[in-house]
Amino acid sequence: MLMTGEQYIESLRKMNTRVYMFGEKIDNWVDHPIIRPSINCVAITYDLAQDPEYADLMTVKSNLTGETINRFGHLHQSTDDLKNKVKMQRLCGQKTAGCFQRCVGMDAFNAMFSTTYEIDQKYGTKYHDNFVNFLKMVQEKDLVVDGAMTDPKGDRGLAPSAQKDPDVFVHIKEYREDGIVVSGAKTHQTGSINSHWHIVMPTQAMREEDKDFAVAFALPTDAEGLYMVYGRQSCDTRKMEEGADIDLGNAKFGGQEALVVFDDVFIPNEYIFLKGEYDFAGMLVERFAGYHRQSYGGCKVGVGDVLIGAAALAAEYNGAQKASHIKDKLIEMTHLNETLYCCGIACSAEGQATAAGNYQIDLLLANVCKQNITRFPYEIVRLAEDIAGGLMVTMPSETDFKSDMKVGKNGETIGEICNKFFAGSPACTTEERQRIMRLIENMCLGASAVGYRTESMHGAGSPQAQRIMIQRQGNIEGKKALAKAIAGIK
Ligand code: SF4
Ligand code: FE
Repeated sequence: MLMTGEQYIESLRKMNTRVYMFGEKIDNWVDHPIIRPSINCVAITYDLAQDPEYADLMTVKSNLTGETINRFGHLHQSTDDLKNKVKMQRLCGQKTAGCFQRCVGMDAFNAMFSTTYEIDQKYGTKYHDNFVNFLKMVQEKDLVVDGAMTDPKGDRGLAPSAQKDPDVFVHIKEYREDGIVVSGAKTHQTGSINSHWHIVMPTQAMREEDKDFAVAFALPTDAEGLYMVYGRQSCDTRKMEEGADIDLGNAKFGGQEALVVFDDVFIPNEYIFLKGEYDFAGMLVERFAGYHRQSYGGCKVGVGDVLIGAAALAAEYNGAQKASHIKDKLIEMTHLNETLYCCGIACSAEGQATAAGNYQIDLLLANVCKQNITRFPYEIVRLAEDIAGGLMVTMPSETDFKSDMKVGKNGETIGEICNKFFAGSPACTTEERQRIMRLIENMCLGASAVGYRTESMHGAGSPQAQRIMIQRQGNIEGKKALAKAIAGIK
């Protein structure tokens, strides 16, 4: 059963998710002005699936049940599925200009499906069945699942088992007949609070001495012992201002990151997908990261589309749209943005079937995709700021623009003064100019910059993580052989 956005929001209310922010427990977090835009952003993934115009992209037939499901819950069955995933993410990015969060679960499903299959083949375990049963339930109920990977990691120079406090990596604290008890935390969890369930995975390859840390499982977001501390974003308290609208830049949508704490949480056997098979931790990380690096070739491109459009509007509203350097900068922004899209499509088109039958992206190309994402949005942002002008960060507040406090000699109000001096081209009202400037501010260095810039840098792995994979997958030996053959070296 596909849910609507509204039904999704109502489903969150029924959960007993424990959320802390600014040192307090937030009981009605669903309606909290700081959190709500991130919920709206996930809700879009439901609403678009209901829209006949987008149904082909947003929904798909499940290979597990034959039912129509949201693509965010799908196991990719072909390179077309992989490409449609990227296209769907670009669409969602265009509609929200933010991070819609639901992709981490989708990427975890696909990595978990193929990895559990291979673990079972080697060890005769039952993880794949556990996972397939879990995913059927997720598809049937149309749930949001967070894919939780990043641990706090403590002293980065030490292995998990050598840390002073073992809790800096999620680990098995107790083995029981009917399950395990886990302890630790996951950091920067995109969409954690807005998810119905979590899939927890190890954060890196593990060695034998780190066996207790090689663990993967699913649990409901309101499981006993689980709680979240909300991550701050730049300008977040602007959302608390009464009647806040224009100054928010993007009043409706936003992203969300949280610290997720596992305070001795019990996980029943049926939800365990990895328990001590440490030689598979690296495979799981590599596959999940690969899928999520492909994802960025869709979502960040969609957000880039909005920023390019905003920059073009800012140029028009400033009356500068005819200048040749402005036209050229818009071309450059488009070129960079579409280069990212090319990478997302290329790693999808070159995808291949895994042993379990679902499709995986080309890992080298997915890592090249993400490496470019750590760079190009910064250049796109630089050009957007160049075109917009300094007004995007010096403009008075919405309240000033609406103020009727008299200041001028002839009784002009602050609002009238602002509207007089910040008027631009006749093509727009002052308010429209304000709105576009605030949107650019929001995306380049305000709340949405979390998703567009810093997340482009560090989400799905920091740049060095991709460079290690590029080195591993780059086949330098093969390239040396090519050069030798041409040069006539035996
Ligand atoms: Fe999806 Fe992009 Fe957000 Fe990751 S950063 S969850 S791929 S929207
Ligand atoms: Fe992300």
